[in-house]
Amino acid sequence: MTDDLPHGTARTTVGDVGRELLERELTTGTGGNVSHRCADGETVAVSPSGVPYGDVTPERVPLVTLDGEQVTGGLDASSETPIHTALYRRRDDVGGVVHTHSPYASTFATLGESIPASHYLIAVAGDEVPVAGYARPGSEELAELAAETMGADYDACLLQNHGTLAVGETAEAALEVASMVEYCARIHYQAISVGEPIVLPDEEVAHLRSMFEGYGQR
Ligand code: 13P
Ligand code: ZN
Repeated sequence: MTDDLPHGTARTTVGDVGRELLERELTTGTGGNVSHRCADGETVAVSPSGVPYGDVTPERVPLVTLDGEQVTGGLDASSETPIHTALYRRRDDVGGVVHTHSPYASTFATLGESIPASHYLIAVAGDEVPVAGYARPGSEELAELAAETMGADYDACLLQNHGTLAVGETAEAALEVASMVEYCARIHYQAISVGEPIVLPDEEVAHLRSMFEGYGQR
């Protein structure tokens, strides 16, 4: 069905991952957004702004350039397109970006607190999940703060008073990172509710991080 649609595979992925955000309760309503770098490396398929994920068919998924200029007619691209394109421009290893409003991670984002390595799975994202300072949703300033916070080493960060950001080689991979961030946030929340979590030492987290790079069936 998407054979004739320009960048049909990437646009299909964006819709599928968006629905999965709702399915996994990583966002509510039309919150959050998803993008996937197209096969040409220079075009990005990004979820349309304010459209229920259930209505996002491949042909309704906008395409933008790495500078964020929309190249398709029809629906407007996500208001957070500047975040997505900033990450693709800065990092060749990034092929997918997911932004969520997942509840436990957003709780720490609202406190302006990073999530430390209290569970080993944090290493999927970095040695912690840092927080990018507050800037208005959809602003270039937020894109700049988020990209600076992620740098070259982090695959996720929190957006203060807002939500989360995760990257991966594909949008599906970014979704898995976002899921892991929410899981670690939940465990950390539970742990601090009843006691004092043991935070893993830096050397151990660095080892785990390199382990995850080779994890699974490659
Ligand atoms: P969009 O619907 O424009 O993608 O915005 C949702 C959102 O989460 C803004 O931060
Ligand atoms: Zn948001």
